[in-house]
Amino acid sequence: MLHHYNDITSRIDSPPKWYDENGVPRYCDFAPDQTADIYVDEAALVEIGCQNCGREFLVAFSRKRADLGRLMRNQPYVTLAADIRANRVHYGDPPNAGCCPSGPTMNCDDRRVIEYWRRDGFDWTRDPSLEISLDEPSTSEESC
Ligand SMILES: [Zn+2]
Repeated sequence: MLHHYNDITSRIDSPPKWYDENGVPRYCDFAPDQTADIYVDEAALVEIGCQNCGREFLVAFSRKRADLGRLMRNQPYVTLAADIRANRVHYGDPPNAGCCPSGPTMNCDDRRVIEYWRRDGFDWTRDPSLEISLDEPSTSEESC
């Protein structure tokens, strides 16, 4: 279950445009350099839905080569692009936006990649070939 961030949303009249990787509401237009982690090499804006009420959310996914946790576990770098192609992306709990009583404790349906971006040096390149529909995630790929 993600934090509700009412301290932020209660001060802003308009609804968030999207949520970052941690479920934090964001009010700017999505851009790959606006993700929670500024050191990422890939970023995507993905449409998900609350598994209970179906409310749509736009959320960010990101990935970086220099991920310390992955490096310490000696796991190979798997690109976000590869996971999108293999239908292995899953946001987990939807943003805690009060969509329905049980929504924040439910899972989400990952629906569609709206934008996909890859960084080379300081330049971001959008790749529309990865902006595809996502099927239901398999139960063995529940990691967030
Ligand atoms: Zn809901």
